[in-house]
Amino acid sequence: MTNRITVLGSINLDTTYHVNRMPQPGETIAASNKTSAAGGKGANQAVAAARSGASTAFIGMVGGDDAGQFMRTALAENNVDISNVFIQKDIGTGSAAIILNQQGQNSIMVYGGANHEITPATINQPAVIDTIRNSDFLIAQFETPQAATLAAFKIAREHGVKTILNPAPAKEVSAELLAYTDLLVPNETESEALTGITITDAKSLAQTGAHFAHLGVHNLLITLGSKGVYLYQEKQATVLPAYKVQAIDTTGAGDTFIGSMTAQLKPDFFNLEEAVNYGQTASSLAVQGLGAMPSIPTAAQIAVAQA
Ligand code: ATP
Repeated sequence: MTNRITVLGSINLDTTYHVNRMPQPGETIAASNKTSAAGGKGANQAVAAARSGASTAFIGMVGGDDAGQFMRTALAENNVDISNVFIQKDIGTGSAAIILNQQGQNSIMVYGGANHEITPATINQPAVIDTIRNSDFLIAQFETPQAATLAAFKIAREHGVKTILNPAPAKEVSAELLAYTDLLVPNETESEALTGITITDAKSLAQTGAHFAHLGVHNLLITLGSKGVYLYQEKQATVLPAYKVQAIDTTGAGDTFIGSMTAQLKPDFFNLEEAVNYGQTASSLAVQGLGAMPSIPTAAQIAVAQA
């Protein structure tokens, strides 16, 4: 059965500047190359889900500019249903400026633009409610307003649709939104922002898992970069190691992981470990290519890597 996934999230036009090293404050350095690509955490996650074979729909907003048109086309070309991607004429489409050094590390500046105009009223339209209701999973991040996410998660809960929250970029979360979250997927920084616990070793990971369980999070995946993924499910904890590869650009590794992993999930999360392995295969391929969306692998590429 193909999973039906709806992503509520951000749509950005990414511009990447390639540099030898990161600039210091007040310093001007030359970039050796500049490339533009479709991005935004929401858009990346939707494309990852669609390339992994999920039937994928998007809820989002772009500006009435060329970037908005470019992004709607990019999503549609990747088989993402854009009927709920709205156009807000008098504001810019979200955008991100990425500085990428030769070691594959990045620093990112994001302009929210139209992404920030999504409200509970956007969600409570009949067509949007229908899209959520007809899904197996609803995924959201923190590049769009939490009030809209809460409205969407409430609709999902009412209709038995499982909710996945990627609390990125790091921000506080309301206890109410956590209560409507079935699976939480932070990275180490985002986890620390939510718990106050710095992840350094097995002990701090266990403390983090227990802390989230206390907050009512029963399914937790913390992505640990090249170290893999910490899985905490109903008090059972394990670290699933990442694949050993030569990373050249880790931009969007987390997005690829979430979208691909969700395409493999069973609605009750009983195959979470298997889905994590699939997601880690996908993200290990993504980090070997340049750019976020361009390097997201297809189901066929993932199958070859898993064979
Ligand atoms: P980003 O913000 O760059 O998109 P993130 O911080 O959200 O990424 P990470 O925890 O860095 O997410 O990475 C997500 C997953 O991608 C990891 O759990 C791992 O499976 C894979 N990954 C990331 N970096 C590497 C690497 N250097 N080698 C192999 N796999 C990696």
